[in-house]
Amino acid sequence: MSDHHTQELPAAPVDHAARAHAILSASGSDRWIHCPGSIQLCRDLPDTTSEFAEWGTVCHELGEMALRARFLGEKQDFQQRVKQVNPETGEVTEVPKFDAEHFAAVATYRDYVTELIARYGEGEQPVVIVERRLKFRRWVPQGFGTGDCILVFPRRRRAVMVDLKGGEGVLVSPEWNSQLMLYGAGTLDYFDGIVDIDEVVLSICQPRRDNLVEWTIDTRELLGWLETIRPIAEEAFAGSSRLVAGDHCKFCKAAARCPERARVAMTLFKDTPAPALLSMQEIGELLPHLKLVEEWAKKLQFFAYDAAVNQGIQVPGHKLVAGRAYRQWSDMTAAAAVLKEEGLNDDEIWNKKLVGITDLEKKLGKKHRVFELTVKGDPKPTLVPAEDPRPEWRSTSQVLAAFDD
Ligand code: SF4
Repeated sequence: MSDHHTQELPAAPVDHAARAHAILSASGSDRWIHCPGSIQLCRDLPDTTSEFAEWGTVCHELGEMALRARFLGEKQDFQQRVKQVNPETGEVTEVPKFDAEHFAAVATYRDYVTELIARYGEGEQPVVIVERRLKFRRWVPQGFGTGDCILVFPRRRRAVMVDLKGGEGVLVSPEWNSQLMLYGAGTLDYFDGIVDIDEVVLSICQPRRDNLVEWTIDTRELLGWLETIRPIAEEAFAGSSRLVAGDHCKFCKAAARCPERARVAMTLFKDTPAPALLSMQEIGELLPHLKLVEEWAKKLQFFAYDAAVNQGIQVPGHKLVAGRAYRQWSDMTAAAAVLKEEGLNDDEIWNKKLVGITDLEKKLGKKHRVFELTVKGDPKPTLVPAEDPRPEWRSTSQVLAAFDD
């Protein structure tokens, strides 16, 4: 259906001949291991970025610089590094935004790597590898990834994978972390026949969450796991159409338009029984699924809105209308002058508010003395599944009652 007002979006491609271009990356592995069909479905979708992703990219740039300077004696000019200079014209095309929080995060990363060297080297100096493209094609067709930092201790027969995470939303765990395990595979492959590695330490450095954690896996166990993902990787690479929705959909490029996600979200409530109010048991069973439905609904709404408003694409059955326009000051200074003439004082004219803590942390870094003047309010209870590792919350009256018992 296409007229001069309507532009159809391209359908999801199914082109098995193009499978050689499929990308089975380490960073996307949680997704393609759970949903092999996502490789084919996402193949031609454009990459998107966000403010958070850009923050992380700058963090990695600076992190690489910091590690190279401390461990490899390779000092780089900071201004040159953070500026994106066209080597031919010398023109500065982009200056990534960096703030005090970047520097605090990078200092934590650099010091953490120093600590890992002391702890896992036990006196031995490692081979330090920074920002290395690793291939793990023995197990995953065309598989590759870029390791942030790899430490290899030949005498200890140990390798440490360090992954810097700039995000502060989801707390990342190193346990059975497929991205880090694939970096481990790439390291085993790279040092094959050169260094014997008996164990691989997987570590996450997530400074904005104070999450600096490690988990160790025996090389034999890692090799066993790689054999279990080999058939999945081959299936994904061959252009599988098997789609499986779950938590891993969160960062999928197809998340808004994926038919499987839509199917799961739309059929969740189909077995609602007789016309009676939902019981607490039924509500408890439905709640864990809401996150998936909510995330999917938001992505779908945003996608349709963006297509209609920014790309002029007509969404069948919908139209754009003018939303409510709110009044605003056309000239605040002139308005304030009029109010002054009316006899209002500054407190009546202006709202003064201290800048938010998070914004200031970005500007000044978390350790600034001004943050000694902050307090944490009482936490609000959050309803989570029973298996959540956090201890159960109890109200003050429940705690007091427990003392009385
Ligand atoms: S949205 Fe989820 S189910 Fe759909 S392709 Fe992506 S990972 Fe698979």
